[in-house]
Amino acid sequence: MNFQEKIKQYARLSVAVGVNVQKNQEVLVQCPVECAYFARAIAEAAFEAGAKDVIVHYSDDKLQRVRLEHASIDTLTDIPPWKAQSNNFYADRDSVYIMISASDPSVFEGIDPKKLSAQVKATRQATKPTVDARMSGKMRWNICAVPSLGWAQTVFPDLEPEQAIQRLWDAIFTAVRIGDSDPVERWKQHQKTLDARTSYLNRMQFDALHYKNSLGTDLTVGLPDNHRWKGGGDYGPAGVFFVPNMPTEEVFTLPHKDRVDGVVYSSLPLNYNGNVIDKFSLTFKKGIVTDYSAETGYEVLQALLDTDDGAKQLGEVALIPYHSLISDMKILFYNTLFDENASCHLAIGDSYTDCLKDHKQMTEQQMRDAGANHSLVHVDFMIGTPDLTITGISKDGTQTPLFQNGNWAI
Ligand code: ZN
Ligand code: ZN
Repeated sequence: MNFQEKIKQYARLSVAVGVNVQKNQEVLVQCPVECAYFARAIAEAAFEAGAKDVIVHYSDDKLQRVRLEHASIDTLTDIPPWKAQSNNFYADRDSVYIMISASDPSVFEGIDPKKLSAQVKATRQATKPTVDARMSGKMRWNICAVPSLGWAQTVFPDLEPEQAIQRLWDAIFTAVRIGDSDPVERWKQHQKTLDARTSYLNRMQFDALHYKNSLGTDLTVGLPDNHRWKGGGDYGPAGVFFVPNMPTEEVFTLPHKDRVDGVVYSSLPLNYNGNVIDKFSLTFKKGIVTDYSAETGYEVLQALLDTDDGAKQLGEVALIPYHSLISDMKILFYNTLFDENASCHLAIGDSYTDCLKDHKQMTEQQMRDAGANHSLVHVDFMIGTPDLTITGISKDGTQTPLFQNGNWAI
């Protein structure tokens, strides 16, 4: 298969398996200007699948950097209503959303972290209807990735620009299961494997998970009553199956925001808003971060944790074996979409409320009481190592080894 055919297949995968676009639906696409050719491929695939229209919003990180350098914090956080509405408008219209990720991991290096996080916060607030529609699964969405030059050169610093982009494309194609056999079929098989894991965990309904490794991690994460593990895709409220992340190797649920205790160490660098945070630790008491450290990006981590109260609590717990399709490539992608799928991770911030069994019948307050966290941010960070042990603790105290030496023990 040549490159153009792979691009076509990839676009089709995002449209048909990712958001699973239905006849006469609108497709909203967020795409970096550098990758416009891929937005066009998405548009072709979407119309072919019966979409009514495709609306593309182009973003430009380099322009964004210029604004962050020169504009005041007041200007940056003053999101014009038309701009918010250009997203929110579609949240009420039975549309689907595709986001193309291509960020250069260090594009915002040196920018005042306070400015950056204030702007992220203001944007999230202004587009809350869209964010809520996605977090609840009402608006089916898919994130897929396309190399930008800055990203490819960060991942492969020793290669010529063209080669770096090609290598990154190859890695992406491998990660999303594009090759000689039918990728749609391969995703079906993959889904079956993930379904077997989530069924087991949903049956067990562990009360807590205990993490331990030689980095120093010794953390107990409580799980809410009636939590639900998910993996791969899920059914949206309209009963249509969709796969939000491509690639995805994780099974995940929400932790109980107030029942996290101990210390956890990061195992991979984290690219947050174009800045790298590395070799960091978080100490939790009754669910809240009470202490933290970072060898790189301490101020960025500080600004992130200070976003709001929910940013100091956990919103996701995800299990991925140390040996997986992505981790076995032994590439550090500096992109959470990939790196989070190479390693067990947690997220601070907002939780996916549809991981509570009865979330549809619950008010926001009831979900909070049940343990769901609420924040303007949701940031995954990687904690998996080859010696990670995870033990499932049942309500009666029974301990079940879940992970040994970084991999599933069940
Ligand atoms: Zn995750
Ligand atoms: Zn996450």
